[in-house]
Amino acid sequence: MLKMKDYEFWFITGSQHLYGPETLAQVEKDSTAIVDGLNKSGNLPCRLVFKPVVKTPSEITKIFKEAQFDDKCAGVITWMHTFSPSKMWINGLKDFTKPYLHFHTQFNRTIPWNEIDMDFMNLNQSAHGDREHGFIVSRLRKNRKVVVGYWEDEEPQKKIAGWMRSAVGYMVSQNFKMLRLGDNMRQVAVTEGDKVEAEIKLGWDIEYRGIGDLVAVMNKVTDAEVDKKMDEYRSKYDMDTDNIDAVRYQAKTEVALEKIFEENGYSAFTTNFEDLHGMEQLPGLAAQNLMANGYGFGGEGDWKVAAMTAVMKAMSEGLEGGTAFMEDYTYHLEKGNEHILGAHMLEVCPSISSTKPKIQVHELGIGGKSAPARLVFDSAKGDAIVASLIDMGGRLRLIVNDVKACPPLQKMPRLPVAGVMWIPLPNLAVSAEAWILSGGAHHSVLSYSLTAENMRDWAAMMDIEFIHIGSDTKIEELEKELLWNDLAYKLK
Ligand code: MN
Repeated sequence: MLKMKDYEFWFITGSQHLYGPETLAQVEKDSTAIVDGLNKSGNLPCRLVFKPVVKTPSEITKIFKEAQFDDKCAGVITWMHTFSPSKMWINGLKDFTKPYLHFHTQFNRTIPWNEIDMDFMNLNQSAHGDREHGFIVSRLRKNRKVVVGYWEDEEPQKKIAGWMRSAVGYMVSQNFKMLRLGDNMRQVAVTEGDKVEAEIKLGWDIEYRGIGDLVAVMNKVTDAEVDKKMDEYRSKYDMDTDNIDAVRYQAKTEVALEKIFEENGYSAFTTNFEDLHGMEQLPGLAAQNLMANGYGFGGEGDWKVAAMTAVMKAMSEGLEGGTAFMEDYTYHLEKGNEHILGAHMLEVCPSISSTKPKIQVHELGIGGKSAPARLVFDSAKGDAIVASLIDMGGRLRLIVNDVKACPPLQKMPRLPVAGVMWIPLPNLAVSAEAWILSGGAHHSVLSYSLTAENMRDWAAMMDIEFIHIGSDTKIEELEKELLWNDLAYKLK
């Protein structure tokens, strides 16, 4: 899988021959200055590459074909310095499926009141050229991001940066492979879904292997390999147990999983506590440390949340915060101080920890296996999102809720799992009503690093439905949105 820094974005400036070579040379110079300025701002996670100014239909078609098939190019940004008749863009745009951003900016910030003449007007007509450009993209019904603002300002730069992260999520999805160990938990509905549809829409290759395939690899893991993994655990976490054998069992599980992932190119996996034939423990610490190292995970066979965890980790590479597989577990309904307590049986990612995680061994009370080692920690305070991808039958829907997260309000000495609490916006009552009406799962991905806008952009790139629950959510409006979306997707 390529990393964030390996991807680049192409900056394509539109014009036409009508203006003559002198003006076109100036367009090229100004456009180069904008690309340099954006790269030097330090706000973009990936490199922006200047491409020669396009003036004819054949130049436009050629550059979009090249962008489409270049593995490093994660998307295209267009800008019209002058007027660029948009029929010239139809053939280039219509077969282009990668992320696409239209940057509506202008080279000069202010009008040069004393010098302005018709030559200046003809050179600097983004206000007019970008409207012509916008029409044809709307006419082609193409999803794209429009960012408006002066190119030297931080606000549009940060919008472009966020979109680049979503585009990396798009690219990662196109080459994404994951492993289901065992099937979905018996009779659970929301963790199910159409894997063929997911591969068509999202690019995800979701493969199944029986748990015996893992056990066979585990049986060949050497003591030296386990020792090395134990050293990694001791360097990152506090060993808060005398039951070292139980921890070594998780180390052996993790080493075996890593071998299977590397051999097959998997970036995420699921387990199911109902299906652990030949295993002594449910992977707990193993799953948590794999998540800390960038892999996605989903419990009970939930491949959608496992893949989303991996994709969102890739999108947030280099950002503060952390991104974790999560589950709404129980509520604190104290009037005026309502919170959700999120956790899982074991597998919460330590990337969201605010304390040094402790390795502990406790009974699970479910699944009938030995007491598994797991990491126990509290999470950080901060703005976050929770995201849930569901299969509505015929289409995928991504639901995102803005939340205010915090460590557990009080100590919970008898609860041996990692925990995080949050106030969902606009408040617990409206959020939970909206989430349930939208069909959101109990499993989600919690991220302190990404925003609802990142996920909205990603959903648009994937051409899937997006529902945002936030401070402005009104149930009456949401109900209409859900009804209208249902109709719209039937027509698509
Ligand atoms: Mn679960």
